[in-house]
Amino acid sequence: MIGKATSKKALMSRVRSMWRYRELLPVNDDRNITTLGEGYTPVLKLNRIGLALGMKNVYVKDDGQIPTGSFKARGMACAISKCKELGVRKVAVATAGNAGAAMSAYAAQAGMDAFIYMPRDTPTPIRLECEIYGAHISLVNGTIADAGRLVSEGMARKEWFELSTMKEPYRVEGKKTMGFEIAEQFEWTLPDAIIYPTGGGTGIVGMSKAFDELNKLGWLSGQSARLISVQTAGCAPVAKAIQEHKDHCEFWENAHTLAAGLRVPKPYGDYLIIKAVNKSGGTSVIVSEDEMLNSMKTLARKEGIWICPEGAATLASIPHLLERSAIDRDERILLYNTGSGILYPETLR
Ligand SMILES: *Cc1c(COP(=O)(O)O)cnc(C)c1O
Repeated sequence: MIGKATSKKALMSRVRSMWRYRELLPVNDDRNITTLGEGYTPVLKLNRIGLALGMKNVYVKDDGQIPTGSFKARGMACAISKCKELGVRKVAVATAGNAGAAMSAYAAQAGMDAFIYMPRDTPTPIRLECEIYGAHISLVNGTIADAGRLVSEGMARKEWFELSTMKEPYRVEGKKTMGFEIAEQFEWTLPDAIIYPTGGGTGIVGMSKAFDELNKLGWLSGQSARLISVQTAGCAPVAKAIQEHKDHCEFWENAHTLAAGLRVPKPYGDYLIIKAVNKSGGTSVIVSEDEMLNSMKTLARKEGIWICPEGAATLASIPHLLERSAIDRDERILLYNTGSGILYPETLR
């Protein structure tokens, strides 16, 4: 049905946002689409960094260049659009920061009330973003895990519709567009590996679902991409579980990292992330905080891209992956940058 409604060729004249894949997203009526022009972000080739690593085909998909400053815009644009369609008036989220900022922005456009529960130590610019969009903000002592309990209690009392990671389907649906764009931008032959900074897992699960759907449409040629999950040493429950061949994560005590989006002690959808990585033939890597911050500087100085620490972790993983022969120097390697460095001024200290 979808194959009839659109085609690879028809896409070329479409809007340059994630809504070019309209038929593959769950919103029925166009009038409910809430959009700030998110998506269709560039794939940039890293020439100078590639040269230093002895690699010719290293790319970054740069979601630092997206409304609200992080790739969370994709999931929230889709989820708020669907909420509008369903008649929801109040939305809430437990967030390490960026999901809250994105939800606040789209809720503002849709005229909904937004309730944000975030750790007290969330980077200030991200908290200020939620404020300027007019959200109701509650600062929580602890991590996203503690914030999560408060939001779920409100959902049970029917105070709002909960948009916390993996508690509803629509954010992952929006994240599929990451996979659709990669496929289109690589001319329907996926890169050999996609290295992805993993927190709650919506990105990996969304891309995996996207590639499945494109395969069903018969739009992809060549091999599937190996999905490689990166976390930092201060909070690596998913990477550890994958390395130990487990199908669920253990709760990570005292989670800490400047990469706020990766500070998720036990993802709600852990088994889905692990399944997606394993199915793709991928693997996981743990990088140190220093490796991550050095990579952030390298990307800025050598390529002119100021990426978020989460995204920088993907570059930091390359030497580890080469050493383990988990990637090859001739392969096409795509780093996924999930957000803008400008939201994390404290990482420069
Ligand atoms: C939320 C977030 C992540 C992790 O996202 P998932 O796809 O849910 O694992 C990575 N980077 C940034 C900047 C984030 O905000």
